[in-house]
This record gives sequence, C-alpha cells and structure tokens, in this order.
Amino acid sequence: MNILVLNCGSSSAKFAVIDSADGTEHLTGIAQRLGTAEASLDYSHNGQKHVQKLPGAGHDQGLRAAVQVMDDLGLRASLAGVGHRVVHGGSKFASSMRITPEVVAQVEACIHLGPLHNPPNLVGIRLAEQLLPNLPQVAVFDTAFHQTMPARAYTYPVPHEWLTQYDVRRYGFHGTSHRYVTQKAQELLGIAANEGCLVTAHLGNGCSATAVKNGESVDTTMGLTPLEGLVMGTRSGSVDPALLGYVARATGQTADAVLDALNKKSGLLGMSGLSNDMRTLQEAAAQGNPRAQLAIEVFCYVLAKQLAGLVVALGRLDALVFTGGIGENSAEIREKVLNLLGFLGLQLDPGANAQAVRGKAGRITHSLKPQALVVPTNEERMIALDTAALVSGSFAGAQYL
Ligand code: AMP
Repeated sequence: MNILVLNCGSSSAKFAVIDSADGTEHLTGIAQRLGTAEASLDYSHNGQKHVQKLPGAGHDQGLRAAVQVMDDLGLRASLAGVGHRVVHGGSKFASSMRITPEVVAQVEACIHLGPLHNPPNLVGIRLAEQLLPNLPQVAVFDTAFHQTMPARAYTYPVPHEWLTQYDVRRYGFHGTSHRYVTQKAQELLGIAANEGCLVTAHLGNGCSATAVKNGESVDTTMGLTPLEGLVMGTRSGSVDPALLGYVARATGQTADAVLDALNKKSGLLGMSGLSNDMRTLQEAAAQGNPRAQLAIEVFCYVLAKQLAGLVVALGRLDALVFTGGIGENSAEIREKVLNLLGFLGLQLDPGANAQAVRGKAGRITHSLKPQALVVPTNEERMIALDTAALVSGSFAGAQYL
C-alpha cells in the first residue's frame, strides 16, 4: 500500500512515497528554505536527484509542487493515505490516530507543549487535506510510545500543581524510532512483541534512550522537551537547572536567551567549539584536538551513565540497541560506550562491531545475555505502516486518552 509520509517543519517539508508492505521508497524529497528566496524542491526518484527552484515559496507552494511531482510520476493515484509526523501529542495520544476535526483540535491543544513543532505539523495536515482531499490522513506522534511510562518515571519532583495546571511532566520523544527499532530487535532476538527487556539508544543529531519492557516504554531520557537527557549535537542534555539563572545573571542575558544557547549552541558543538557533527569531531580528535577529544569523552560517559540508569527501570537487560546516524555508523563510539558498560556483562565483538555500519544490522557483542545490537531506524517506514494499518482498519492499538 503506497503511503505519502509527510514531516512538516517550520521552514521545510520532508516527504516520501513509501510502500508500507516492503518499505520501497518510490519518491523521497524535501521542500526546503521555505519562505526565502532560496526555496527549492529537492527530490529523488529511481536513484536520480532533481532540484526545482521555487524562489519565495511557502509551505503551500512547496507542497503543491511536491504533489505535482507525484502526479507527473503517476504516483498520486496509487496513494492510499497520508501519514503525518506530529511531534507533541501531550498526554492525549497513546498511539497513532486517524485525523478527524477532534484530533486536530487536540493537536492544537498541545501547541503550548510543542510551540516550535506542532504549528508547522498542523500546517502540513491542513495543506494535505486541501491538496489531497480524498485521502485519509493519519497523525503519528513522537510522544505516543512513551505514554506507557509509569508515574514514577514521568513525574518531576516539583510542586504538584505544575503538573495539574500546566502539564509539567516527562513526555519523551523519538517514540516512532524507539518503537521501530524495538520491533526489529525483537525479530533479531527471536522474541515476541510483548517480551524482552531492551534499552534502545537513538543517537543522531538529537539523542535519546528508552527502557522498553515487554514492548512498552517504561522510561526515557528526554522529558517535557527534547532538551533533557543525553548530550546531543547542539543540545546540552540534562544540566543543573540553576545554571539558567546563574548564566543569565552573569552574562546579562535573558533566561530565554540562555535556554536558546542550551538548545542550539551546546552539546558537541558547544564543548568542541568546532561542530555538532560526530564525524567531524572524530577526525579532529584523531588529529589531537583536545576539545574534540573531551567532547567525545563527555558524550560517551553521559550516554553510558544514562543507559545504565535505564536498566533500573527494567530490572534486567536482554539487549542494548544502537540506532541513529551515530549509533548505526560509529563503531568507535559504540566501543567506548560498551567498554564503560562492561560491568553489565556486555562483551564487545570488535570484528562484528566494525562490520555493523551503513545500514547493516546485527549483534556486536560476544555476550548473548545481555547483548548489544545495531538496528538501523526507519521512522518513515513506521509512519507508513501505522497509516496503512489505520487506513485499512487492521490497526490494533489506536488509543485516545
Ligand atoms: P542523524 O541525525 O540520525 O542523521 O545523525 C547525524 C549524526 O550521525 C551526526 O553527528 C553524524 O556525524 C553522525 N554520523 C553519521 N555517520 C557517521 C559515521 N560514519 N561516524 C560517526 N558519526 C556518524
């Protein structure tokens, strides 16, 4: 079943036409730099890349051009539904949902929790409804997988009315990726969907890790926002919250400006002063750059510490799963992390570790209990699978809270 997967951001809209059954990507593309003179539609079909300049185009024109390409390629007629990535579902959605006016209203009601992401996600939903009026639409939430977290994992130790009046709690993100790699890891382990104690580590430009017990998220490193938890490309991850007021006073900046720096100028970029890109830092570290070396050391140390912490939520560890650009490709980072976690019984297999790169899945430890796996993620495929299931009526787990 061909599904249009749409991820609409503030200045770009990523799209893909995917066969949900086998994952074939018939078309992938991005309308980017929307709202600027450099706006363009870049897409790839049958291995061929195309760029269409769209100076001054906004989301409307960018998506219209994308739909035109689907028409020209004869793909539009084959579409069975549209699956939208929606970042914040708050406590309202515990699974993907067929989009109705009521669902749109609930996504709007979550804007205060995802002020940067939910508005452009809603723009994508409205435009898709206009441009492809006969197709069913589905929302797939980054937060939904983590709605199974127990209160002890999602509750912040803060005044209770912050939760009841302002929804201050941990939500978690990257849920679509954690759910996808959980299913793949369960297949590799030969266990059922409701079995196993896994820790999944999504390590890309954004990083988060999740404790998955019997197929359900029971704790995760990101919180109210995607700033909490692991060290990331430009995000600090968890820091002493008193730092915010302290740095604001020391530098004369507003708290919002400091928060912006924690999101955009910290993490690998902030520590190294060089780049948010792990490959660049590994090259610089190999040439002796001390700040790049320290940034990698902090990244791995914090990661190992938080991964071990997630085992508390599970009581035992069957498998640690690496995914995301860093997790899928950097044998060096995986080695450093597994060496720090040797006390859990994880024994690296250096040969297997070196092999598991560029989309190759597999076990990278000698140890079987626990073991470490590399599993390439595919959020678009997961969105396509959920959309196909909801459209065809075979979806088992739709949950509206
Ligand atoms: P993502 O956000 O999942 O696309 O991941 C982006 C991150 O993956 C960046 O930090 C890249 O430097 C990193 N990455 C991709 N390939 C490699 C590699 N071969 N070695 C180290 N890091 C990599």
